[in-house]
Amino acid sequence: MKIFSYNIKNFRQIEYMKLLPEEVKQEIEVVSKVLPFKANNYVVDYLIDWKNYETDPCYILTFPNKHMLREADYEKVKWAVEKGLPPHEVTKIANEIRLSLNPHPAQQQSNIPTLNGEPLPGVQHKYRDIALFFPTQGQTCHANCTFCFRWPQFVKDLDLQFSMKEIDQVCEYFRQHEHLHELLFTGGDPMIMSPRTISKYIETIFKADLKNLKTIRFGTKSLTWWPFVFLPQYNEEAQEMLDLFKRITDKGIHLSIMAHFNHYQEMSNSAVAEAIANIRATGAEIRTQSPLLNHINASAEVWATMWDQQVNMGMIPYYMFIERETGPYAYFQVPLAKAYEIYTDAIRVTSSLAKTVTAPSMSAAKGKAQVMGIIENPLNGEKYFQIQYIRHRDYQQTYKPFLMHYDDKATWIDQLKPVEMQIHHSDL
Ligand SMILES: *Cc1c(COP(=O)(O)O)cnc(C)c1O
Ligand code: SF4
Repeated sequence: MKIFSYNIKNFRQIEYMKLLPEEVKQEIEVVSKVLPFKANNYVVDYLIDWKNYETDPCYILTFPNKHMLREADYEKVKWAVEKGLPPHEVTKIANEIRLSLNPHPAQQQSNIPTLNGEPLPGVQHKYRDIALFFPTQGQTCHANCTFCFRWPQFVKDLDLQFSMKEIDQVCEYFRQHEHLHELLFTGGDPMIMSPRTISKYIETIFKADLKNLKTIRFGTKSLTWWPFVFLPQYNEEAQEMLDLFKRITDKGIHLSIMAHFNHYQEMSNSAVAEAIANIRATGAEIRTQSPLLNHINASAEVWATMWDQQVNMGMIPYYMFIERETGPYAYFQVPLAKAYEIYTDAIRVTSSLAKTVTAPSMSAAKGKAQVMGIIENPLNGEKYFQIQYIRHRDYQQTYKPFLMHYDDKATWIDQLKPVEMQIHHSDL
């Protein structure tokens, strides 16, 4: 199986494009000026149900549509394209729109650590025990999710890329931080790198013999976008990748694949089941995570089915995220109240083995804020969200539930009003 990538220049060659009206194709071209489009032959031929493309979760996940942009922004780009403005002028308009879409949510750039006084731009270190590593060659993906919050990294001319060539510095950083136990390779998608490239990083880590490194994680969507990464019968490099995983677990380091799945349809192909089995045979565990996305998975039935299937296939449901406030979030966002309802409706009907999943959380500036519950005061009918940080920059601040005023429209923690102690003079 050879990978064949589609981008905005060649997407019209996709056989199924015959099923789409011309205006939809033009819409894809216009929106892709802002939200970069990328797909491949596996996504197109095996994941999307083209007969129902308009509502198909895998289509919406990969093909941009005009509702993902504000109407005025869409019209502006459309005008520029139709007017035939020179490419650099269209790009300028697109960049202005991108910058207005909050390209760096939750102050990610403030998580860049320093080593001996120098910044480590390819690393983020927010929580005491875990550091994220963004290997330079992993700053892209097999396909682009339309909702992706990492998109500024793919749009190179914005100059917002995290990148780093040297893993040596990461090792040194680990030595200097004894509480660091986990290294999470992320991107983009680190599984876009060849096993040889990843091996170079891993061998360096092995040589450094970091006593405090207990777990390596790879955050990846390859089980959705290109499961052949793990299938030797289709891909000559796959065995090398599996052998590498085995070398990691043989070292006594826990290897966790953080698999990104948004919908059970992504697990429908037998290639995925085979890839999962091969990964697990190396001693690695697979944990699954996804944001809750309007138009893709905003239903309890989708989540319950997905989690049960994941357990069935040998994976561990891990995180349900609230969609971040970045990029085309207005299209994908689900209010916190609705998110909590979807979560509880789903978790109530799943196997208890799927209850490893953490109730919906927001990766906010201070940490991961989880919606624990909605509480009503029986005396006056006032409603509150019960929230806690399951992760916080200051680990001492985790697992301390607090109340915020209920708001059925709020989509992020900063829209919630804190509950103030109301002390009246007459009470004193
Ligand atoms: C979510 C996240 C992690 C990983 O957190 P876990 O709760 O250990 O899965 C690490 N760093 C950052 C910045 C994160 O947002
Ligand atoms: S796989 Fe992850 S990083 Fe890549 S486009 Fe999708 S959400 Fe973004």
